[in-house]
Amino acid sequence: MTPLDIKPDFTREKFDSLIAPLWRDDTGRVVFETVHQCKDGSLYPVEVQLHLSRAESPPVFVAIIQDITERMQTMETLRESEASLARAQRIAHLGNWDWNIVTNELHWSDEIYRIFGLTPQQFDATYEAFLSFVHPDNRQSVIDAVNKAMHEKEPYSIDHRIVRPDGTERIVHEQAEVTFDENGKPIRMIGTVQDVTEHRQVQERLHNLAFYDSLTGLPNRQQINDSLSRAMLEAESRDRLVAVMFLDLDRFKNINDTLGHDVGDALLKEVAVRLKASLRPGDSISRLGGDEFILILGNIAHINDVTRVAQKILDQFIPPFRIAGRDLFASPSIGITLYPFDDNNTENLLKNADTAMYHAKSLGRNNFQFYTAELNARAARQLELETGMRRALEREEFVLHYQPLVNMQSGLIVGMEALLRWQHPECGLIPPMEFIPLAEETGLIVPIGEWVLRTACAQVKVWHATGFPALHVAVNLSSKQLQQKDFAEVVKRALGETGLEPRNLDLELTESLLMQDMESAVAILKELKDLGVMISLDDFGTGYSSLSYLKRFPIDFLKIDRSFVKDIAHDRYGAGIVRAIIVMAHTLGMKVIGEGVETSEQLGYLRNQGCDIIQGYFCSEPLATETFTDLLKDWQAIRMGKCSIKKASGAPHKKKGKSTRRSSKKKG
Ligand code: C2E
Ligand code: CA
Ligand code: CA
Repeated sequence: MTPLDIKPDFTREKFDSLIAPLWRDDTGRVVFETVHQCKDGSLYPVEVQLHLSRAESPPVFVAIIQDITERMQTMETLRESEASLARAQRIAHLGNWDWNIVTNELHWSDEIYRIFGLTPQQFDATYEAFLSFVHPDNRQSVIDAVNKAMHEKEPYSIDHRIVRPDGTERIVHEQAEVTFDENGKPIRMIGTVQDVTEHRQVQERLHNLAFYDSLTGLPNRQQINDSLSRAMLEAESRDRLVAVMFLDLDRFKNINDTLGHDVGDALLKEVAVRLKASLRPGDSISRLGGDEFILILGNIAHINDVTRVAQKILDQFIPPFRIAGRDLFASPSIGITLYPFDDNNTENLLKNADTAMYHAKSLGRNNFQFYTAELNARAARQLELETGMRRALEREEFVLHYQPLVNMQSGLIVGMEALLRWQHPECGLIPPMEFIPLAEETGLIVPIGEWVLRTACAQVKVWHATGFPALHVAVNLSSKQLQQKDFAEVVKRALGETGLEPRNLDLELTESLLMQDMESAVAILKELKDLGVMISLDDFGTGYSSLSYLKRFPIDFLKIDRSFVKDIAHDRYGAGIVRAIIVMAHTLGMKVIGEGVETSEQLGYLRNQGCDIIQGYFCSEPLATETFTDLLKDWQAIRMGKCSIKKASGAPHKKKGKSTRRSSKKKG
């Protein structure tokens, strides 16, 4: 037999080309795989190693032939299992990697390339190259996790985002293990990367289903307790209130029954939109189900704020809802309870709000009710004030009271602060703190403020003409007034119309007002200074008190807030602070006015520290115009020695209106 008998496809030419290299190289051999034939004609794979021995003559070929049927089968199985592993990886979006820490060679499986949206050509397979595809926000935590795995021998498991070359982001879950050499040095890290983006989205959707109302997208009842507890905690730490509002639409069932559920649903969605619009960021709103909503307002400073929001919500329902080509009218009934005023338990608060809501329904719907009668009365008064205030200007119900400013050196009244009061036909004299915030909210402060300015200027002019020249008047300003573009014009007009010298008008501003918008405040103050008026910084120490701004503003007088004056006798720091403020103000070239001086100790201390002017009940309460005129006369008489001073004992705190006359007389 010749070799050709066992090699069915063999030809002389093939054989020659195979052995050609052997002739060139003595020690050479060729190895190749081919197919041999059995006697029965069946075929089997073989590996042939062919050697040529030229030492013999003639040369001899030696062939070692090995049946590789089994090896081929094993390889085939391996290939199949690799293919199915790759398939499994593709299905699971999971790839594996192998990083040789010593050489920094990184091997990625095909699926990782797919997850990263890369091809092997685009990637130079190092740890640093891998890091460059990790989202910048997550990079440090990945580095930290790798370091921790290597140094603390902890398992590595982390979720992070990656950014593909096309800019799309994916979320991946990575897990790995480190291998160490015998010295405990990390040498290799093997791990997996799984793309969990879709998985996360599903999780999020499930979360939304569990915690959000699918119709309106608002949080559902599951979250109410959480939001409420959170708001309560925050309120407690900041000494604020939380309001819980239970809102139910009036006659919603009618709409559902007559116009169908689709219209009802569309209305609920619109209602949710309008409700959200009435809230501040940080407030929360949820749908309980049906036409019931819960609103949680945190961080409330004053109950008036709650009334205002509730009124605002009612107002939101005035314009009709445009649904399916039709104008629908809807109104709510709202029940309100306050933490900690009414209760401090979340369950009870929700129950209270519900009870109050039924009360609102029973009172004819489209209104809001507080849980407690006392708060209802207050809210009613506030609303009454709000409507009343709109008419008060026309009806001339506002009046100014004046409180003297006394010079510490001369003991003379050098001016007065004009303080606004509202002479309400039913409620009597209302102090400014009760209606000014409301006036600011409604914008009414602008015309009211203008009236104050004109009236005060005109009145001082009268006093100038009746024997008290050189008095100056201080007028309080609200931030809303300062925001007017032509405010300097308004001041100029008031001065022009009344003929008051600008230097006899003093405008009082607070720190917080100036700090709201530094740049425009600097500009407007400059305009005002150019007119020649004086500027006072009111309530100093209660606002931001940033010393650096003080020198930026052209301030003539600094008014130490009465809370500091009150502390003079109370604690040693109080007195120290007042002394420091005076020194600082004088250094900056400002005069100092001590506010709220009620006792002779306070007066004595302020005088000793060089305070220029004082104001407070110790000299006199704010007085109505005629009473103030009397005071001016009495004071002048005392100065001229026609009368002797007999100090009033204690401050006449509570006396208002007529009684103030008595207190000033007493001093006389
Ligand atoms: P303010 O500018 O700090 O005015 C001083 C307040 O302290 C006045 O209260 C005055 O009556 C009170 N007061 C004076 N001496 C003493 C004292 O010895 N002890 C105590 N405890 N209090 C004293 P009032 O008149 O109730 O005014 C309150 C606030 O209302 C004013 O605080 C001011 O911020 C604002 N306000 C008053 N009138 C106007 C105005 O025409 N326009 C604006 N925007 N705000 C005004
Ligand atoms: Ca003031
Ligand atoms: Ca003040």
